[in-house]
Amino acid sequence: MANIQELIEQFESRYGASQAEVAVFHAPGRVNLIGEHTDYNGGYVFPAALTFGTTLLIRKREDNQLGLASTNFPAGKHISIEQVSYDEADDWMNYPKGIVNELHQRGVVFSSGYDLLYHGEIPNGSGLSSSASIEVVTAFALLSMEGQETNTVDIALLSQKSENEFNGVKCGIMDQFAVANGKKDHAILLMCDTLEYELVPFQSGSYKLVIGNTNKRRGLVDSKYNERRSQCEQAVAELRAAYPELTLLGQLTAEQFHEAKHLIQDDIVRSRAEHVVEEIARVLQSNEALRSNDLHKFGELMNASHDSLRNLYEVTGAELDAMVDAARQVEGVLGSRMTGAGFGGCTVSLVHEDQVEQFKQHVGERYTAATGLVADFYVCNIGNGVERLQ
Ligand code: ADP
Ligand code: MG
Repeated sequence: MANIQELIEQFESRYGASQAEVAVFHAPGRVNLIGEHTDYNGGYVFPAALTFGTTLLIRKREDNQLGLASTNFPAGKHISIEQVSYDEADDWMNYPKGIVNELHQRGVVFSSGYDLLYHGEIPNGSGLSSSASIEVVTAFALLSMEGQETNTVDIALLSQKSENEFNGVKCGIMDQFAVANGKKDHAILLMCDTLEYELVPFQSGSYKLVIGNTNKRRGLVDSKYNERRSQCEQAVAELRAAYPELTLLGQLTAEQFHEAKHLIQDDIVRSRAEHVVEEIARVLQSNEALRSNDLHKFGELMNASHDSLRNLYEVTGAELDAMVDAARQVEGVLGSRMTGAGFGGCTVSLVHEDQVEQFKQHVGERYTAATGLVADFYVCNIGNGVERLQ
């Protein structure tokens, strides 16, 4: 967790002293425990908020200027809060600008400008949702400062819309939803199509969730992501011969799917659909396992999820596979899988607390030997969604 006093000093040396108070907000990163590539198929995901994320210091100004600065990036500047537009040269600042733009579209009229300083603890571009974290903390802070309602489901939706439309990134709702609505020591069982959700206690006892960052930039993600989406649509189109009302794979039980899967002509398309339907079933089984505190069962489901993402959905790649293979060799590991869209990013493993150091050492060494890359590890606890700290 960031040192707030130090950040306030940085804030004042950048923006100067003022009578107005500096308020402090925080939004976490997130990790998806299970349920990968199910969101756009109308299925369940099972993310949790992390304890580390993005801290935002914010203070009202006398004029209508919006000051943007981040301890993670060198640039920073003032713009008018009334006129924001996308500018590639503004790099990261397009995320907070997108939120201001979205608030305008929702009829928010700002009573003044603000100075903002962000401090992020989430590695960028690793699939732990630093972008959702900066969006959600910005929306929550600005609405709070304006004395407006801060409904965290609405904030998730407007943040996703901003990333989709202002930043041109076609993400689903999971990231913003988890970052906005997470709760300490709980996972979020979320139905992406309807946004119905439940907070499920995550009691990991003597086990820890350990995130492994492959530090492999997600290269081909966009084109492969679009290809997977259209393969799922193809499967739905062919399955309609048996289920005329079908619009999304998530509407079928695994049993219904297996009865009709022969209707899908292409072997690859059939495998993609099989992953989706079975992965959704695994999310629901994980919910039951966690509710009955059966971590061994949950670990098995994590393993099955990764194997399906590797063999049927084919979105893992050499780096994620090397890291998961090494993780499963360590004693006291109940399960290990890739998390996020794939082709790089992070893995998540459930590791006995006495084995965490051994885990980092063994997986780190094996991973470097296999790929030439150096991994990072984060032992994570589950934290709260967006909130005001002071
Ligand atoms: P991910 O969400 O997986 O971390 P993205 O590529 O979606 O990766 O988002 C990363 C981008 O979000 C960064 O390149 C930067 O533009 C912006 N960002 C995230 N955190 C911060 C921060 N603390 N300060 C400024 N910009 C940030
Ligand atoms: Mg992102």
